[in-house]
Amino acid sequence: MNTKLNLSGIGMTSQRTRERLLGRLMSQGITSMEVLDVIRSTPRHIFLDEALAHRAYEDVALPIGFNQTISQPYVVAKMTEAILRGGSLDSVLEIGTGCGYQTALIGQLAKKVATVERIKPLLDRAKKNLKLLGLRNIDFKHDDGSSGWQEKGLFDAIITTAAPQQIPQDLLDQLSEGGRLVIPVGGDSQQELRLITRSKNEFTTEILDAVRFVPLLVGQVQH
Ligand code: SAH
Repeated sequence: MNTKLNLSGIGMTSQRTRERLLGRLMSQGITSMEVLDVIRSTPRHIFLDEALAHRAYEDVALPIGFNQTISQPYVVAKMTEAILRGGSLDSVLEIGTGCGYQTALIGQLAKKVATVERIKPLLDRAKKNLKLLGLRNIDFKHDDGSSGWQEKGLFDAIITTAAPQQIPQDLLDQLSEGGRLVIPVGGDSQQELRLITRSKNEFTTEILDAVRFVPLLVGQVQH
């Protein structure tokens, strides 16, 4: 599964800054060629406000408004690599669409992506960005994603890009056999990035890294 992006009309920033980012990700231990390839081909600058677009290929999280951030490329790469380890992906659920950057990467690697965001204007912006890239295999929902998206499940993988204090049971229940959940867990200052793998009704946990995400909040916001 490697959906090609439509890049016509999208200004390219310096190829050198992009290659430098790739080099940095590899030196930090990202080895999956599939992941590195989609990061190379995905223009991160279109997901940012113009004033910040020149920083798009730095390996940092950046503000996207509404007190939210676009995730750091290293963390996005690490999470994507973790879900791909289980083999090919038919259906993936993402909780926390934000501006849609992580969604764009998964959209190129999985057959179908379902993504849920609680802040309406962010979801609308993500829809626009992903349409611009020509990705058509993504379903969007404006909702509190803590309880997953039951009608679309089960999922081969679930990625949560906001941190709960504890893993919601609904997300575990919506994993298919062999399915993987990658999720930051913990309080405001520091969280663990966990990879949970389902085998029948058993769940094994691996700690991938220390991370810092925005909290997974309850309820939805219209504006
Ligand atoms: N995936 C984004 C990261 C966005 S930051 C990227 O690629 O950069 C995390 C997002 O999770 C924010 O947009 C926030 O509004 C959203 N979020 C927080 N709690 C949520 C919830 N309960 N349901 C759905 N989205 C939530």
